[in-house]
Amino acid sequence: IFPPCASDYYQFDDLLNPEEQALRRKVREVMENDIAPIMTKYWEKAEFPFHVIPKLGSLGIGGSTIKGYGCPGLSITGSAIAAAEVARVDASCSTFILVHSCLGMLTIGLCGSEEQKQRYLPSLAQLHTVACWGLTEPGIGSDASSLKTTATKVSRGWVLDGQKRWIGNSTFADVLVIFARNTNTNQINGFIVKKDAPGLRVTKIENKIGLRIVQNGDILLKNVFVPDEDRLPGVNSFQDTSKVLAVSRVMVAWQPIGISMGVYDACHRYLKERKQFGVPLAAFQLNQEKLVRMLGNVQAMLLIGWRLCKLYEKGKMTPGHASLGKAWITLRARETVSLGRELLGGNGILSDFLVGKAFCDLEPIYTYEGTYDINSLVTGREITGIASFKPAE
Ligand code: FAD
Repeated sequence: IFPPCASDYYQFDDLLNPEEQALRRKVREVMENDIAPIMTKYWEKAEFPFHVIPKLGSLGIGGSTIKGYGCPGLSITGSAIAAAEVARVDASCSTFILVHSCLGMLTIGLCGSEEQKQRYLPSLAQLHTVACWGLTEPGIGSDASSLKTTATKVSRGWVLDGQKRWIGNSTFADVLVIFARNTNTNQINGFIVKKDAPGLRVTKIENKIGLRIVQNGDILLKNVFVPDEDRLPGVNSFQDTSKVLAVSRVMVAWQPIGISMGVYDACHRYLKERKQFGVPLAAFQLNQEKLVRMLGNVQAMLLIGWRLCKLYEKGKMTPGHASLGKAWITLRARETVSLGRELLGGNGILSDFLVGKAFCDLEPIYTYEGTYDINSLVTGREITGIASFKPAE
């Protein structure tokens, strides 16, 4: 029996197989015992706690769904529930792992050569080295396929020129997966850039109001030479990034699920402990309605997230399915953390009570991996057959 947790109202554990249940339990224990006590301090300082990397590596989720090369080959359901359990305690930690695993590593796993997989994945899987994933640019966000960074073929390699923005883990990543436009074909190609490459400069983005532990960087690439053996042979057009985004979008949808579980659990406890007007806060009808609305959101999110994983495992998941999941779950999660923040009164705006921190952390998740709007339009295109990304001429 899984350790009790108020958000597990519909006994979601029953939908998991024994390995997935065991992984969930292990991740929850490590996160609650070893990670939870230190994260607020680092969140306040906007610093990354490097000393927890070995602990996170010991969870055995690095490389999540990748089979072989030292990776665990987890089911997508197992990876997703692990991501949620990490996010339940700390959203920054889950973003760190997802960027590393489900964007950086997965791009090498799906689009890399056999030799690249053998060279990079084993140490990334153990978190002995860290990856990041650079698509977004200062002038190119939602319209990612219009990216401007160039890749020019030269003798024995490529020269990259351009800028990337918002790239998670990039200030310390050993391996930077970078997308650039091939100046011969005008198509998008993918490259592995090493952190000490001459011409590469990364500057930390300061003053974020959410995911403050995640180190997002502005990347400048000035005449950066990448040898032929570090060009990803499986990225020959923008479409090739969608193989990666299909998985990462599902995984990212599980972050708000985990965050909402954590917020609900914290509020459920708090409302029974704190008293006003001589009775526990939980005794007020208005508070109970909010708590129940949050609980309903969490159960519905879990079931949609689970169904998404099953569709993926059966090879039936479409881009519209994944986008609807990410968009709808973040929308409901935004309502859930906002109700939670309200229920804690003044303490709801303090980062030390988990809820205030989670409230802030949800904002960037609503925006990255395709904003709510863009994911809605992806599903909208699928269900109507009409693309509406650009206003009519
Ligand atoms: P914009 O594209 O400028 O959009 C602004 C607003 O306009 C949004 O509300 C958007 O929904 C709306 N909008 C835009 N186009 C349309 C349209 N056609 N129809 C309707 N509405 C529209 N990128 C990476 O490559 N790697 C990373 O590791 C990474 N990590 C990130 C971490 C954080 C904390 C953040 C905030 C971002 C990260 N990103 C990363 C970038 C992220 O993917 C982009 O921020 C996101 O795609 C949105 O782009 P934008 O911020 O430029 O917003």
